[in-house]
Amino acid sequence: MSVLITGIGELTTNDDELGVLTDAAVVLDGARVAWAGPARHAPAAGERIDVDGRAVLPGWVDSHTHLVFAGDRTAEFTARMAGEPYRAGGIAVTVAATRAASDATLAAALRQHVAEALAQGTTYLETKTGYGLTVPDEARAAKLAAAQVDEVTFLGAHLVPPGVPADDYVDLVRGPMLDAVAPHVRWADVFCETGVFDADQSRAVLTAAARRGLGLRVHGNQLGPGPGVALAVELGAASVDHCTYLSGTDLDALAGSDTVATLLPACDLSTRQPLPPARALLDAGVTVALATNCNPGSSYTSSMAFCVATAVLQMRMSVAEAVRAATWGGARALRRDVGPDAVGVLRPGARADVHVLNAPSITHLAYRPGVPLTWAVWRAGARVRGTTHSIW
Ligand SMILES: [Zn+2]
Repeated sequence: MSVLITGIGELTTNDDELGVLTDAAVVLDGARVAWAGPARHAPAAGERIDVDGRAVLPGWVDSHTHLVFAGDRTAEFTARMAGEPYRAGGIAVTVAATRAASDATLAAALRQHVAEALAQGTTYLETKTGYGLTVPDEARAAKLAAAQVDEVTFLGAHLVPPGVPADDYVDLVRGPMLDAVAPHVRWADVFCETGVFDADQSRAVLTAAARRGLGLRVHGNQLGPGPGVALAVELGAASVDHCTYLSGTDLDALAGSDTVATLLPACDLSTRQPLPPARALLDAGVTVALATNCNPGSSYTSSMAFCVATAVLQMRMSVAEAVRAATWGGARALRRDVGPDAVGVLRPGARADVHVLNAPSITHLAYRPGVPLTWAVWRAGARVRGTTHSIW
């Protein structure tokens, strides 16, 4: 049945022609947007919902999470807040807990995290493997993720397991592990960082993945300057994620590329790193995405609204830039910004992923930080129950 959402005080479409509309309406027909425009021109529909002046925007597109995990790293977080530095090796704690968990335990935890994100307006979600680090454990994570999330990324190159020679592990990742995981994933990713995987090891994994037809993503320049951004641009990766420490060369390389810079400010805050240079990236013409990096070690939040508020309050992005980065930017980072699968945009033909705020404008996302503003959500045309201010 078609649904007319009308009385929209401010409609953010992310469509170049439609732009931002006031006194607007949207019609959903099944899983697609059928129409968007001024309320006075809206066609009739089977059901009519008046949102009484509230703001409407596309659902959040969270293009970077690590949600197939078990266990808890509260103690590590507490130590970090007391002054301990963040170390990538903490990942091994989650690897041990994840390997020990049953399929049912992992699936239930994943379901809970996906539901938590959806209740906050996240309607399109990417997640990664990377807490298995053996062939069977990575294949299991990929299968469990593919059953519940929109996009799955193979991150066997997340950490060299303790006791395994690094080059042997790289050969395992780019050989038997990639073979086992490839049927379940669309993307491959590497943690390219000092002390984890260097440029040559990262390139070896990514080129093998590209030969298997997988799209590429890179974790780069998170904990210090490094080769991640240059490698992502060299290999035509869809996205390079973190980008906390960028040189002028990195900025120029990104500006001349189709690679999205995906910024993860909740992670930088939780690891007491500086925030990424969003303003310099945007001013250079780089496409920027915002994502949560939800994971139990360095960024345990599913709140895209928190990332948007941080981007505005502390990274000098405008509200419009931050909201676009958290919707359209994420879609672009996943190459889902165009075509019949388009998300992060509200125009006829796009997926009916709609987020209604209990506020008159998107400005309230930064003006009222920390306040749960999600009022109603549709995902692929289906109403989501259990949102904070659910009207259903
Ligand atoms: Zn990550």
